[in-house]
Amino acid sequence: MTDAPLLEIDDVVVEYGRGRKAFRALRGVSLDIAPGECVGLVGESGSGKSTLGKAVLGLAPVAAGRIAFGGRDITHAKGAQRRGLAADIQVVFQDPYGSLDPAMTIGDILAEPLTAGGLGRREARARVAEMLDRVRLPQASVDRLPNEFSGGQRQRVAIARALVRRPRLIVCDEPVSALDLTTQATILDLFIELQRDTGVSYLFVSHDLGVVRRVCHRVAVMYRGELVETGAGEQITRAPAHPYSERLRLASPVADPAAQRARREAWLQTRTAWDAPAPVA
Ligand code: ADP
Ligand code: MG
Repeated sequence: MTDAPLLEIDDVVVEYGRGRKAFRALRGVSLDIAPGECVGLVGESGSGKSTLGKAVLGLAPVAAGRIAFGGRDITHAKGAQRRGLAADIQVVFQDPYGSLDPAMTIGDILAEPLTAGGLGRREARARVAEMLDRVRLPQASVDRLPNEFSGGQRQRVAIARALVRRPRLIVCDEPVSALDLTTQATILDLFIELQRDTGVSYLFVSHDLGVVRRVCHRVAVMYRGELVETGAGEQITRAPAHPYSERLRLASPVADPAAQRARREAWLQTRTAWDAPAPVA
């Protein structure tokens, strides 16, 4: 069965803290990702996007629901099972400065997951060379340290490291949010190209609807711990089914200053209603 989902997230609840102080960051979220599919997860800060990514990676306290990968339940995978998943599920974080060990050369950063996974040194070196080509970094990068690179180049290293074991899924958590707009565009194009060439799937988290639209086949809109809308990015931009999706569209920056001013005005119009406390039933 080729169309069986790669990742199944079924009614997942995540709670931080316990008892009366417990905070429910995910309130029953369901989402499937097919092999080779890129699903964007968009929503404002604090809506629970990173929490969903962490739940998939085994880094969030899942209180209820089920997560399966390749048909296997991984909801509470620990120890050896969780370590084994690292070959299949990888992650790219927002901060290209904090996520790379400053004392390791790029060559070691990329080879380490391979040798730890049992690959011989010679094969590891060949794979590292292939990865540098894929992310368009010069081969001479292997002898350099992370601080010799710009933010965009570091994010290329982080992407290469995520890809080096040929995973089937990469959780990308705001991977271009720390970069300037021009660099964002080139890194997003790289994500698209790598997806096409390798057939990897992405769970691609961003607060920016414009960013996920560009990369993803499908977009899920998160609001206060719930998915309120799922559809093609085009459809969510043109005809948002949920008022919150429209607000996200208006919050996404555009290059044309006049259009940007108009967006901001419209966004401010929506603000009062959305920021008011919910009416008591
Ligand atoms: P997003 O990525 O959409 O900005 P997060 O998933 O990081 O949102 O956070 C969702 C909510 O959960 C926020 O209200 C945040 O304060 C809370 N939260 C996240 N991580 C923790 C944690 N480790 N402990 C307690 N609360 C947390
Ligand atoms: Mg986040």
